[in-house]
Amino acid sequence: MATPQADIEDPDDTCSDPFEDGCTASLNDGEGWDGACGNCADRKDNEAETQQAQRDADSGQEDDQR
Ligand SMILES: [Zn+2]
Repeated sequence: MATPQADIEDPDDTCSDPFEDGCTASLNDGEGWDGACGNCADRKDNEAETQQAQRDADSGQEDDQR
């Protein structure tokens, strides 16, 4: 089995594909962070904000119970 792409890009320069969508976008545009491209990083950020909002709502409910 020969290696099909000997010139494959340095993994550090491509999206870490946090959502396992097969994303191999380049990080060279500087839009991404945490090893993810801009699109995936934005998606992670949106999910983080959603989870934070849910946490805020939960803590708000706890405050109401007191
Ligand atoms: Zn990506």
